[in-house]
Amino acid sequence: MFALLLKFLTPHLVPLLMVLAPYEVWFGIPGDAVLEKYSQSDSRATAEKVAKALRASGFVVEVRDKKPPVVGTGPSTGVGQPTNGGTSTGSTTTGGSSSGGSSSGSTTGGTSGGSPPGTTTGPAQPIIDDYVHLAMGNPSKATADVKQENNYLMKKPQFALSYNRADAIPNWVSWQLTKKWMGGTGRSDNFRPDPDLPSGWYKVTDKSYNGSGFTRGHMCPSGDRTANRTDNSAVFVMTNMIPQSANNNNKGWNSLEDYCRGLAEAGNELYIICGPQGQGGTGTSGKKQTIDGGKVKVPAFTWKVVVVVPAGSGPAVNRVTEKTRVIAIWMPNDQSVGTDWAKYRKSVDFIEEQTGLDLLSNLPAALQAKLEAQVDAGPVK
Ligand code: MN
Ligand code: MN
Repeated sequence: MFALLLKFLTPHLVPLLMVLAPYEVWFGIPGDAVLEKYSQSDSRATAEKVAKALRASGFVVEVRDKKPPVVGTGPSTGVGQPTNGGTSTGSTTTGGSSSGGSSSGSTTGGTSGGSPPGTTTGPAQPIIDDYVHLAMGNPSKATADVKQENNYLMKKPQFALSYNRADAIPNWVSWQLTKKWMGGTGRSDNFRPDPDLPSGWYKVTDKSYNGSGFTRGHMCPSGDRTANRTDNSAVFVMTNMIPQSANNNNKGWNSLEDYCRGLAEAGNELYIICGPQGQGGTGTSGKKQTIDGGKVKVPAFTWKVVVVVPAGSGPAVNRVTEKTRVIAIWMPNDQSVGTDWAKYRKSVDFIEEQTGLDLLSNLPAALQAKLEAQVDAGPVK
């Protein structure tokens, strides 16, 4: 009787079950015998994204497909299927939709940017990006499209940036800072043109700033990438530099960098975004609009936003709350700057107004609004 009923219902049950989020993400710490269920989703692409983010945080992860094996029902209604071929790193892949292969893969240089616009329209969940240096968002929606030459996304293993070809400096640079990025490696000091820039673009060299009165100011600093020689060397490409006044660079900017490394040493996970704004700065040879024969723009200000996420498990974006500390600073690019970085604190909203960027865009809108309106008043050393 029951069997008969079941038989009758089966054709209706199968599509029903397919709607019930069949892709489950299970996770555990290495060595765990049993995994725990972390989330479920009706989209394999979403499940794989979550899985990748968890793997990036060191978890053992499995994507389990609970969809009942469908024999020949063809259609697979889902119109918005993963366009990226699903990078099926998961263990139990039941080669579903047009897996096709390609999947380009490699964490760097992805074309997908920080927040692919076309992903499934679900609840207002933040998009989880497996690429750690854009965990809080891609503030200018930069893409790795050479036609977008003044908002050109470069995703490197050590940091991400949006490059501005016309200005020959980055619009912003973004990176994660934790203890694991720090070690005993000293400064490489191998300033050089960035070989990852598209061919045919002017490449700023190690000598471009010579005699300008401005320093080659790192955005992602050398001191944040000292775990090994490769990582440290990576931050000496000129796409990570701006013409920075000596006192800005060596005093206020540097003291905030030091303070941030202390927060990371204490076990926090930091997400840092910074960049230049405006034009016309004053270095040791006076005020200038450009250097390098007019090819490199000199900014008027430097800004930085630091999200201090306490250590924990799961994607960082899910661990940001209304209590999370966010430090934002805005400094003139001139010789007036002293070592006290704290007096340059502003709200993230202020920096967004000045730059036109949408910072922390991966956070839910209400949380962004709350955190971005505040001016940090926390400890300064
Ligand atoms: Mn510096
Ligand atoms: Mn924002």
